[in-house]
Amino acid sequence: MAEKIPYKIYLTENEIPKQWYNVRADMKNKPAPLLNPGTLEPMTAEELGAVFCEELVQQELDNDNPYIDIPQEIQDFYKMYRPAPLVRAYCLEEALGTPAKIYYKFEGNNTSGSHKLNSAIAQAYYAKKQGLKGVTTETGAGQWGTALSMACAYLGLDCKVFMVKVSYEQKPFRREVMRTYGAEVTPSPSETTAIGRKILEENPGTTGSLGCAISEAVEVAVGTPGYRYVLGSVLNQVLLHQSVIGLEAKAALDKYGVKPDMIIGCAGGGSNLGGLISPFMGEKLRGEADYQIIAVEPASCPSFTRGRYAYDFADTGMVCPLAKMYTLGSGFIPSPNHAGGLRYHGMSPVLSQLYDDGLMEARAVEQTSVFEAAEMFARVEGILPAPESSHAIRVAIDEALKCKETGEEKTILFGLSGTGYFDLVAYQKFNDGEMDDYIPTDEDLARGLSKLPNVDR
Ligand SMILES: *Cc1c(COP(=O)(O)O)cnc(C)c1O
Repeated sequence: MAEKIPYKIYLTENEIPKQWYNVRADMKNKPAPLLNPGTLEPMTAEELGAVFCEELVQQELDNDNPYIDIPQEIQDFYKMYRPAPLVRAYCLEEALGTPAKIYYKFEGNNTSGSHKLNSAIAQAYYAKKQGLKGVTTETGAGQWGTALSMACAYLGLDCKVFMVKVSYEQKPFRREVMRTYGAEVTPSPSETTAIGRKILEENPGTTGSLGCAISEAVEVAVGTPGYRYVLGSVLNQVLLHQSVIGLEAKAALDKYGVKPDMIIGCAGGGSNLGGLISPFMGEKLRGEADYQIIAVEPASCPSFTRGRYAYDFADTGMVCPLAKMYTLGSGFIPSPNHAGGLRYHGMSPVLSQLYDDGLMEARAVEQTSVFEAAEMFARVEGILPAPESSHAIRVAIDEALKCKETGEEKTILFGLSGTGYFDLVAYQKFNDGEMDDYIPTDEDLARGLSKLPNVDR
């Protein structure tokens, strides 16, 4: 008889991947290059080097090498909180009464509470190696800022975080965790940058957006000697670092000869999903296996399902390179959804290309149905999930319920990207019955899309 699969499949410390996997190497259609917003020519390594760390620029531009060594120092840091467990959701299966077999890869086992630390430590490491003094970044909900603060504290780097003002005010505890790790946290838009002052002048009283905070962080990085800018999602390099999630998940499943039929993850900028699916997508691209892959996004910020695949600005101030991605337009301000990490207007260029090539699907789900799934999951599996991650839970449950109807014993793998301890205001709204489902109208979307830059590529 086959060995019963345990509730948690742990790898040993030695089985933590020693190389990241670069899915671009196996893509026939490569993601479109970043463009210089002035000349509309592809950004050169030299131009990117003014904003990003050298080695990260190489990784950003590398469409060819399938495997990239993880430096020993990063491997050592990973050992503090990895390998992350792969959990067989027996309790959820039972509660649903489904014949489906559900697994989730849990990335919330660290103080930052999400997968973001996987890339934060890599980016901080390369900044340190280059002899830099510090890094700047933006944070929305606060997970990325927390992760980067932890990585910078570990390596002795300065960390300047521009935090979207509404989150800065609503999530004082996140802010305090960052300060505890030594980061300097500024609410954005702020008076400390030219772009911040301009935005404030044009929109007095604005509560900020990720796009704004990115502009401020880039301005400070470019204008301060010994500093570079780092970003927690969207970029190719971030997906590369996050491949550690998928490599571990695949190694754990391989131990028991399990092949998922379906892989599901939430998608904000696309990094946790991109990381989770990378090695599986690699097999799919090479024709070795097939998987159904589903990106889940909020109906309030539907870049895949209702956006356009086009070059767009990454930020509000339009200082960043242009990226070709599924986008709602850099001026799109999503309604105040509680999944802060899923409120970005664009999507990873790698995932955008894979989606455009029909290699993966996307679904948009409404907030209250996401919290219903979150609560059910918390009650039966024990973990309090992040609202972002709960988008994946929602679709995993929906698919498992379909299996119940059809009797199919599908194997479902989903990414549980983090925990929700800092999202209790959102849970409170849900529990009090005060949560709304905002869905932008076609006119709302048309407004954002009408401001896309005119790039003929
Ligand atoms: C930031 C975040 C996300 C969204 O970002 P991606 O780059 O799409 O992964 C999802 N889940 C959690 C817990 C996050 O913190």
